[in-house]
Amino acid sequence: LLKVERLHKAFGTHEVLRGIDLEIDEGEVMCIVGPSGSGKSTLLRCLNYLEKPKSGAVFLKDEPIGVRWQGDRLYEMTFDQLARQRRRMGMVFQGFHLFPHKTVLENVIEAPIIVNRTPRRKAVEEAMALLEKVGMKDRAHYHPAQLSGGQQQRTAIARSLAMRPELMLFDEPTSALDPELVGEVLATMHQLADEGMTMVVVTHEMGFAREVADELVFMDEGVIVEQGKPADVLLNPQHERTQTFLARMR
Ligand code: ATP
Ligand code: MG
Repeated sequence: LLKVERLHKAFGTHEVLRGIDLEIDEGEVMCIVGPSGSGKSTLLRCLNYLEKPKSGAVFLKDEPIGVRWQGDRLYEMTFDQLARQRRRMGMVFQGFHLFPHKTVLENVIEAPIIVNRTPRRKAVEEAMALLEKVGMKDRAHYHPAQLSGGQQQRTAIARSLAMRPELMLFDEPTSALDPELVGEVLATMHQLADEGMTMVVVTHEMGFAREVADELVFMDEGVIVEQGKPADVLLNPQHERTQTFLARMR
């Protein structure tokens, strides 16, 4: 479904990604772990072209992200083309970024109505089904300020799903939450994975990675140091850097 080839990214002279290759199959859950500053967020942002790679490429179902072939030449996509492509990937961040002056329901129906021109009644119907799925149906008419962080994040997930993405990208979705609220958001993500959603999850939650991920990727200093089945990587890390990192997480 998603393929990353020899991806490089630099900020000025600082090489943040130094040749990343990845493949994510449909329905697969990939967790990415690694120390602060290793390039995890930058990688995620390159996947949907929020950051423009220096070289290398990302393909969604064999379509290059952010660029288009015209004849035998490669062009940057127009803003509209890029927006259309981006919508195929949902993204959930550490902060929840809900519209503060809108209710939970209004947050979820906004993009389907404005962007996809879904009729309001249908958008509301679909949104309520999604809110039920993430356990937020009874809070549909609350404003974000009236919700806990966990409820806000579950709303953000529902809002993302409302655009029917082909895959979901999560960047530390639980790290801004109070510890007692982490579980409910992970449970929602677990359920989403069980339903077959393709997911790339940057996380420090090793329990989630072990239970839910099909593939665990350990990044350090802009490269993938080690990758494999979570049980193998967690129990039997091959590289010293992975061992050191995991020892610190315990
Ligand atoms: P964390 O676990 O702390 O979120 P990370 O693995 O997500 O870390 P990134 O945010 O991808 O790391 O950052 C990787 C490196 O790139 C860091 O050294 C960071 O300072 C640098 N960096 C990230 N974004 C920018 C930017 N917009 N401009 C300059 N440098 C940046
Ligand atoms: Mg980050």
